[in-house]
Amino acid sequence: MSAVDQPAPNGARAAAIKPIIGFRNISKRWGSMHAVDNVSLDIEPGEFFALLGPSGCGKTTLLRMLAGLEVPTEGHVLIDGQDMSDIPPNKRAVNMVFQSYAVFPHMTVADNVAYGLKIDRVPQSERDNRVQEALDLVQLGHLASRMPDQLSGGQRQRVALARALIKKPKVLLLDEPLSALDAKLREAMRFELSQLQQKVGITFIMVTHDQDEALAIASRIAVMNKGSIAQLGTPSDLYEFPASRFVADFIGSVNMFEGTLISDKPEEATVACPDLSPYVVHVPHSVAGQEESTVWVAIRPEKMSLHKDAETPPAVSKCPAAHNVAKGEIKEISYLGDISIFHVMLANGRLLRISRPNRSRWDQDDFTWGETVWVSWDGSSPVVLQS
Ligand code: ATP
Repeated sequence: MSAVDQPAPNGARAAAIKPIIGFRNISKRWGSMHAVDNVSLDIEPGEFFALLGPSGCGKTTLLRMLAGLEVPTEGHVLIDGQDMSDIPPNKRAVNMVFQSYAVFPHMTVADNVAYGLKIDRVPQSERDNRVQEALDLVQLGHLASRMPDQLSGGQRQRVALARALIKKPKVLLLDEPLSALDAKLREAMRFELSQLQQKVGITFIMVTHDQDEALAIASRIAVMNKGSIAQLGTPSDLYEFPASRFVADFIGSVNMFEGTLISDKPEEATVACPDLSPYVVHVPHSVAGQEESTVWVAIRPEKMSLHKDAETPPAVSKCPAAHNVAKGEIKEISYLGDISIFHVMLANGRLLRISRPNRSRWDQDDFTWGETVWVSWDGSSPVVLQS
């Protein structure tokens, strides 16, 4: 079997639908530095896929190898089943939108969008129709004769999108497409990008280091770390079932405790964590670990509750006594409007982060600075990690 024929590791989903993009054992090295290290991945037609990871993890390099702007040191890129090894960038059925919405400043919006078709010598009448169609798609039909310096940042990014889409690529590649925009506009553009992808129906692959952006827009995300894929899944898979400390910590916010797995049975497991002593963490299922091994317990801030007294909080009533509870003191309350974040210090000085929705106008008055509180969580909330 040649490398090109090998199935990708996420084969269960990919087997049913022919992938539009396939990375097969792709590596990129610069000297001894592995920017991308043996990545295999299938992306299905019509997905809004995100490559997410911290700066320097190799996500842009992976995207550039797909576009043909970098040559892999090893491995193959397939587009629609075809090996791209000998195909130059301009012959690949992909188009790229860059971070800094590179539009030509001396051309009108319409001329910017028409540029690629002009180079391809598409006749004027067809060009005009397609420009209008592409501008309507990004809601800029009424600004066709404007110059780029008469546009807002969001409008300029939409010109760049129209220019990329006019050539009808099978896949649109977006390299940090919203990072040059301010926070409010970014959020509005997330929604627009997602709407646009549904309208045109082609595959979008976006590189971002912003986990909120990836969670908000993407249908599937590959979290990258040090040139490799740390975990692949839907936004909720990654948030609710992180497979490692890296992913739990990178996606969202988390309270993490190191501990020892003291028992692991089919119907329940318990973990002793020095930070929570004398209490232990209980989960109502096996964690498939080795007893006495070191594990990490990850609990999201919104999955912890605050209580004023020591009587067993309702969330833990199904657990044995002294499980899934901790005692501490409120050190700080951050009021964020929709939620408040409580920073609770445990006896050993360790700080917990607990978030509570402010459902009524008076919710934030329930607890105050310096108050002694009990923190509890349901047995279904902790994720017990082995790495
Ligand atoms: P960022 O979010 O900061 O753009 P990234 O995850 O996209 O980061 P890459 O740009 O893919 O990361 O870079 C991965 C690694 O490869 C980095 O350590 C980077 O310094 C290195 N690198 C990228 N391009 C080159 C190059 N042309 N020559 C040498 N090293 C490079």
